[in-house]
Amino acid sequence: MTTLTPVLTRNWDQPDSFTLAGYERDGGYSALRTALAMEPDAIVQTVKDSGLRGRGGAGFPTGMKWGFLPADSPNPRYLVVNADESEPGTCKDIPLMLANPHVLVEGVIISSYAIRSNHAFIYVRGEVLHVIRRLQQAVRDAYAAGYLGKNILGSGYDLELVVHTGAGAYICGEETALLDSLEGYRGQPRLKPPFPAVAGLYGGPTVINNVESIASVPSIVANGADWFTSMGTEKSAGFGIFSLSGHVTRPGQYEAPLGITLRELLDMAGGVRGGRRLKFWTPGGSSTPLFTEEHLDVPLDFESVGAAGSMLGTRALQIFDDTVCVVRAVLRWSEFYAHESCGKCTPCREGTYWYKQLLKRLDAGQGTEEDLDTLLDLSDNILGRSFCALGDGATSPVVSSIKLFRDEYVRHFEQGGCPFDPAKSTLWG
Ligand code: NAD
Ligand code: SF4
Repeated sequence: MTTLTPVLTRNWDQPDSFTLAGYERDGGYSALRTALAMEPDAIVQTVKDSGLRGRGGAGFPTGMKWGFLPADSPNPRYLVVNADESEPGTCKDIPLMLANPHVLVEGVIISSYAIRSNHAFIYVRGEVLHVIRRLQQAVRDAYAAGYLGKNILGSGYDLELVVHTGAGAYICGEETALLDSLEGYRGQPRLKPPFPAVAGLYGGPTVINNVESIASVPSIVANGADWFTSMGTEKSAGFGIFSLSGHVTRPGQYEAPLGITLRELLDMAGGVRGGRRLKFWTPGGSSTPLFTEEHLDVPLDFESVGAAGSMLGTRALQIFDDTVCVVRAVLRWSEFYAHESCGKCTPCREGTYWYKQLLKRLDAGQGTEEDLDTLLDLSDNILGRSFCALGDGATSPVVSSIKLFRDEYVRHFEQGGCPFDPAKSTLWG
């Protein structure tokens, strides 16, 4: 039986977990002292050896990304934290920054030192004012304590950290759109390559990492790479925050080794709400193909989830019981993607619009078998033909729901309406 491994979440039950005093009492900023006594390259090597993979969804090895920065660029190099968490169901970074903003600040300082950057930014979504204020306070306190600014802790190392707020566009979580937004332009994805590691913010070499990835760095520096690899699986090392939401008895954040199963997590979370049957779930947010109760024992690591036909993504486990109409759920997600598509490329801009129209018709019981084929045909024209991952992600719920629940779509148009009782079918409750 896998048990929880609270590292990032371990002090969340302390009333002052978000303050500098509370964080320092818990050993906070001691990893920074350790790091500043190391050579920057040794920290990069430790993170490489730990096998830490990006916690923002894609799972790219963090240390390898740091290693891509050119040694001899004439431009300043930057660290940017992607705190624009907006994927439907994804809700781990915001509680982390709220409960423990200093672990992120300490991670930023160590990571910036490791990549020899003197300028760092945290790009946070603009809607979460309470989180922004808490981050800003943490940054102010870190400056006052000598953890940021000139000559940090007498080491000779300087770092300026800016908290920058976005304006509520999902696409600004795409790393290159984020950079455009940070530079003051309209946020739209850039062509890759060049990757940000080579030409990123203001054209300089830039590392962009997710909040949870950077927040994991202090514990890796403090405890060593072997400690981290002793958790998780061989290729998906360490721990991660699993966010359980929807029809679950005790929703929330469960920090556990990668490779834990939904069955184990549900046992800890009191099971599906009301003892009902699990109908479908997302392993990593709405951009990942749906799973059903058949997948309860799939280890939640990058490889196993991939082999079972989905993606680990952001470990946003949205649980839907048997009162939920899958057509309605997919319509809601598709409306989100149509609204958030930045419009730069035709497959995504037009495809997500037509998803929305067809799904509305199907949901109302006015669709046809041909509409299902059109949805699949549209998906073929979006997947792999879109400029960025938003378009690809939009196809996941549509294609997987038709594969798993085609009969439910058919029942809608055979009965001329939704077969589910709207009074019982609580979608996100
Ligand atoms: P990606 O696989 O294209 O890139 C992952 C990271 O690796 C990027 O930082 C990229 O710059 C870097 N990289 C990849 N190849 C590289 C190379 N050859 N050289 C240098 N750097 C390289 O994925 P992506 O488009 O950045 O992200 C997609 C993921 O984002 C999805 O899997 C999804 O789960 C996740 N997502 C998360 C949220 C959220 O709210 N957290 C929202 C939407 C999507
Ligand atoms: Fe914009 Fe969608 Fe194209 Fe991405 S896939 S660039 S969000 S239109």
